[in-house]
Amino acid sequence: MSLATTQVATRGAVAVRSVDKSYGNQQVLHEVDLDVAEGEVLVIIGPSGSGKSTLLRTINHLDKVDRGTISLDGELIGYKVRNGKLHERRESEILAQRTEVGMVFQNFNLFGHLTALQNIIEAPIYARKIPKAKALARAKELLARVGLADKAGAYPRQLSGGQQQRVAIARALALDPKVVLFDEPTSALDPELVTEVLEVIKDLAKSGTTLIIVTHEIGFARDVADRIIFMDSGRVVEQGTPNELMTNPQHERTKSFLSKVI
Ligand code: ADP
Ligand code: MG
Repeated sequence: MSLATTQVATRGAVAVRSVDKSYGNQQVLHEVDLDVAEGEVLVIIGPSGSGKSTLLRTINHLDKVDRGTISLDGELIGYKVRNGKLHERRESEILAQRTEVGMVFQNFNLFGHLTALQNIIEAPIYARKIPKAKALARAKELLARVGLADKAGAYPRQLSGGQQQRVAIARALALDPKVVLFDEPTSALDPELVTEVLEVIKDLAKSGTTLIIVTHEIGFARDVADRIIFMDSGRVVEQGTPNELMTNPQHERTKSFLSKVI
């Protein structure tokens, strides 16, 4: 293997190792182990309260793990090893790491006082000090990519839920993240607006960006996922290709969950 080949950096590979997380005396993640490969589209399914959102939030250190580690392209998230021990990183380093992880929430979380375009350029300009002209040009490209080139000047309240979520996706992509996390991106939408958002995510999936998507849209999961994991009570119960998991689930809990959602 040539040096050039060995030095190609991975992009967006996530490794979760033996992660435990509790709130008070309730343990919500139990020894979660998960590998997401560069460019992979991983879908997480599971009942409400099974720890899906918590797992996503630990990936960008919005929630701190109690035990275990999470790394992105080999770099520990939120911690550093010093003298053989884990030490939490400085706030500035944590914020810098967070800019490598895009996040799309159920409720869009756009800034209501900013236009679509301003929402997208906010982080590039203030968190990464990208020159305004460059950030604007990129934001316009991203708006076009999500089919909203004509909505640059619109405020969130002037947009439908589906349009707001597409702006939120454009915003999540603005810093060219290594991985994008979606937490039930269509759960808050009226049924007729779901498809337009799923189409944007499918398009992104084809582009080779690593995606981790929590969703209850089982048909979409089947179309878009390279792999699906089923979580229950804070554990990864089962995982496989969409076909394996949907047509031949191994665990009773997976079967019972799927029988309710399909
Ligand atoms: P899911 O996304 O699968 O519905 P969550 O990760 O949101 O599950 O929640 C897992 C469990 O942790 C639930 O029992 C929930 O009530 C609890 N939980 C989540 N966030 C908090 C929090 N900030 N404080 C206390 N309990 C929480
Ligand atoms: Mg959730």
